Amino acid sequence: MTTRREPLVIRLLPRATARRREREGLALALGFGLLALAVDQACERFKRSGRKHAEALSDGGAHIATALACAIPAAPFVPNKGRFLAIAVVSAVAIDLDHVVAARSTSLIPCMTMPHRPASHSVLTVSAVTYAAERLWPGTQAGLAITVGLGSHLLRDLATGGAPLFLPRRIVAVQRPPVASMMFGLGFFGRWYARRLLDPTRRSRSNPAVLAPEALVVGTRAVRALREQRPVLSARRVA
Ligand SMILES: [Zn+2]
Repeated sequence: MTTRREPLVIRLLPRATARRREREGLALALGFGLLALAVDQACERFKRSGRKHAEALSDGGAHIATALACAIPAAPFVPNKGRFLAIAVVSAVAIDLDHVVAARSTSLIPCMTMPHRPASHSVLTVSAVTYAAERLWPGTQAGLAITVGLGSHLLRDLATGGAPLFLPRRIVAVQRPPVASMMFGLGFFGRWYARRLLDPTRRSRSNPAVLAPEALVVGTRAVRALREQRPVLSARRVA
């Protein structure tokens, strides 16, 4: 079976112009990163004072600013920047709809007062949605935009109460400073990935956007298998 691939259209800019745009993009990403930090602090204040509506709004705002900060570095290397950024932002906001499903309510308070974030706040969701997007719209970088958008959301959630990142019932929580460096890493990864994927001088561009989430799925299965083996091994040791 052969897969039809969209022709890749790259507009080549003079090197100095391309570098200037890249620098501007990185400065803009940094700006959104600082904005995300400020909105995150405001969100914490609203949380402490019990202002749920303001907390929900600022939480959404912080997720949008974080998604933009992580996605903008990749934007100069994708054919349709607006679409790429829009998909990243929509992904970063839409994942919280799983609260509505898990709480079986569209009201704000039941959705915000659940003991833990829903099981769909996990790496498996990122892998499945990215994989589906890459299969449905190959070559459009939708998969990368979703990975960065959902990834930025999950990383922020790790610092704000934790999320069941690898397994549905295990909550992973991380302090803000390491999460900030992970977000920086995600932005760097997106930029490297988009650049490598779309570099017309490279011959081997064999759809790595599909291979990356597949690797994540395999990795998650391996972690689960190791976790399942651990109780068996310790039981043997006790025996
Ligand atoms: Zn969330």
